Amino acid sequence: MVASNDGVEWRAAWHLDFYRQAEVAGLITFTSPTRYKLQPGVMAFAREAYVHEEYRNLFEWARKAATPQTPNVVTASRSLHPDALRDVPCPLIGRFRLSGWHRVEKTSAHTANALAQIVGEAVTVCAKAWGGWRPDGLTVSFHRSRKAMGLAYAPGNGDRRISLNETLLTSYDALSIARVVLHELCHHAREEQQPRERFKGYISHDPLFCSMLVLVDAELAANPKRCQFFVDEQDDGVVAASSAAKGIVYAAGVGLLRIGVSPNRKMRMRWEPIGASKWRPSWEPLTSVNFLSMLRRFAPDDRYEVTVVPDISDTRKPMFPPHDMKAPEFVEYMYALSDPAYKRLAAAAVEVFE
Ligand SMILES: [Zn+2]
Repeated sequence: MVASNDGVEWRAAWHLDFYRQAEVAGLITFTSPTRYKLQPGVMAFAREAYVHEEYRNLFEWARKAATPQTPNVVTASRSLHPDALRDVPCPLIGRFRLSGWHRVEKTSAHTANALAQIVGEAVTVCAKAWGGWRPDGLTVSFHRSRKAMGLAYAPGNGDRRISLNETLLTSYDALSIARVVLHELCHHAREEQQPRERFKGYISHDPLFCSMLVLVDAELAANPKRCQFFVDEQDDGVVAASSAAKGIVYAAGVGLLRIGVSPNRKMRMRWEPIGASKWRPSWEPLTSVNFLSMLRRFAPDDRYEVTVVPDISDTRKPMFPPHDMKAPEFVEYMYALSDPAYKRLAAAAVEVFE
């Protein structure tokens, strides 16, 4: 399946003859009969579980819009509200594009002008700190998510697009919005200044990213270790509130962290009680963001004692881990595996144990 987002429309196509169609469409170039390289701006995901957070909304929409049952090269596009795009004046870059403001306007506690000022100041601060780097062609859009407070789309491709969680506009102050804007701009600047391969042990908040972000975020400068856990990760406040409502207890002795693969092959995890309990767990996708958030729900000392167990209900394929482990052992186990998805989990979790 091919899904694309040009900043205006989302498109999805299911190709029965994928590789030939991808070549015809100019997405890949064959360098030999069996090898190909991706054109700039094209990302390839072997499995749904590997799709990066910033593409997940697009991908989930595309999965419904295009199916194997539809004929070759069927495309679908999102219809746009006539007021969906507007240009907003901005220092240094002339203007930026505001996308989907009509959807958030009614509930936002901040006006479009206030947002324009926040973005304009962020652009100015970044240029000063990062050697004149400017996000020319910037698009700012909005998303709804219980997780990411901000998203940077395909950083490094030169298409500067960031998205802000609608919750930021309804419930957070201007400083919080500014920090998310700076953070997402930093993702673009970091990948553009020193491009890198996204699959080999990729850590989005690497030391270079953090060193750049500290230059523009005064609050972070006072506490640089927080870089890894900044606001575009899962909103732990929301998780804590919903966990408390369900009565879930996060303590090492009262439950097991079960890791498995769902029938549709997604990695998943759940925190389940040992023995009879008033709380009922539910599966959630096992991503580096979720795994990190799960570990953070425990008191720091307790994290070392959390027992990770395999999902024995999955009989088709032996699931990781092969036997019960303590959380730090499980992290080491993931590191030992060659699979990039597991390494991303492990790399994120190591911070929790430091
Ligand atoms: Zn980030």
